[in-house]
Amino acid sequence: MQIKLSFLGAAQNVTGSRYLLEANGVRFLVDCGLYQERELRHRNWEPFSIPPETIDALLLTHAHLDHCGLLPKLVKGRFQGKVYCTAATSEISQIVLLDSAHIQEEDAEFKRNRHKREGRKGPYPEIPLYTTDDARDTLPLLSPVRYEEPVRIGDGVEATFYDAGHILGSSMIKVKVKQNEEERSILFSGDVGRWDKPILCDPTLFDEADYVLVESTYGDRLHKDQGNIDEMLSQIINSTEKAGGNIVIPSFAVERSQELLYHLNTLLMEDRIPHLMVFLDSPMAIGVTEVFEHHPELFDEEMMELIRRRESPFDLPGLKITRTAAESKAINHIRGTVIIIAGSGMCTGGRVKHHLVNEIWRPESAILFVGYQAFGTLGRQIVEGAKEVRILGQTYPVRGRVVQINGFSAHADRDELFRWVSGIGKPPKHLFVTHGEADAAHHFANFLREKKGWQVSVPSYRDEVILD
Ligand SMILES: [Zn+2]
Repeated sequence: MQIKLSFLGAAQNVTGSRYLLEANGVRFLVDCGLYQERELRHRNWEPFSIPPETIDALLLTHAHLDHCGLLPKLVKGRFQGKVYCTAATSEISQIVLLDSAHIQEEDAEFKRNRHKREGRKGPYPEIPLYTTDDARDTLPLLSPVRYEEPVRIGDGVEATFYDAGHILGSSMIKVKVKQNEEERSILFSGDVGRWDKPILCDPTLFDEADYVLVESTYGDRLHKDQGNIDEMLSQIINSTEKAGGNIVIPSFAVERSQELLYHLNTLLMEDRIPHLMVFLDSPMAIGVTEVFEHHPELFDEEMMELIRRRESPFDLPGLKITRTAAESKAINHIRGTVIIIAGSGMCTGGRVKHHLVNEIWRPESAILFVGYQAFGTLGRQIVEGAKEVRILGQTYPVRGRVVQINGFSAHADRDELFRWVSGIGKPPKHLFVTHGEADAAHHFANFLREKKGWQVSVPSYRDEVILD
């Protein structure tokens, strides 16, 4: 058996997911993600280690940018193979990639102007990593597959996608390689979701695989003491309504916004919050919500039951979709308490900034965070208790109530990752711990060695191994 596996990203770090498999004369990638950590972003600009036109295909686990965000650069470099992914991943990726290209173009323009003003040159070229045209060229390559139906990638190589329960359409992928009557299987965990989350099905469990790659984003942590999401939501909505303020929720467009609608729907049906207008004020979140509506076949039992009873969270009473900037601005003129869900999730851009300008200085209003706030972002400053913040070039005092709900994570924690790995009965020949900061990955690798006694390692960037 001769299968070569190269770790080209998400090796001792979280983003830039990319693995290369070479077997039976077929060369294919699993994921082609964008590096998002500040200190690793330079890798986005490095030339690909092999010419993109020599890659036969790409298997895409899901539509998060750190898994699909470098695809347009690959296509710009003359990759012409198929990008296999589920239909939902394909539809969400289209939205995500066009948005990303737009941001790349804006960033390049901004940098060009700043460098010109300051009379200096930056470390990277002042051109976009890829353009909207490159993103558009990528879309025809997206080739939808169904869960649990094997696809032929090349001679003696097939791949099967399974539900990962992480975001809509997310997949775990099992690759099978046949050589001289022998067969090996390589299982890619993708991002492992969580059990009993709203809307989505639970992560798929596997009983066997020869080689396993498992993510470890939360490989050294447990999601505990996060409080009850519904309880916290109803508390803040009720108290803000009493005070006469508005509730602004900076939210990620993919999954988080839809989950929020689900929780608001539950609270409304149980009569735990008053009937308020809820604005979904993010063109991207609106687009992604439409993808959800196209794919009821991916919903879990509870969500299907809501649909059958015509109580879908996407038809939440009071829900207003604001597509245009003018509709968004009109929200300011509404009297009485409203709930505004707007991007971006970390307040680094998008319409949420305008709402913060209107609400952050009002003691009766609330800013509710439902996702991770990275270091250096406006969201992080607010969460950490800044007394005043700069938004769109002006300084505002933070007088509104600031609340963070941590229970929304889409990633399995250490025990949930262990639950997933433990589905595999027979010890694999080798297990690779990927997609986690070095500490988290090593912690989880040690945990697995101790509990299972398996062959486990934590590969480094650009490591190559031969699977026999
Ligand atoms: Zn993800």
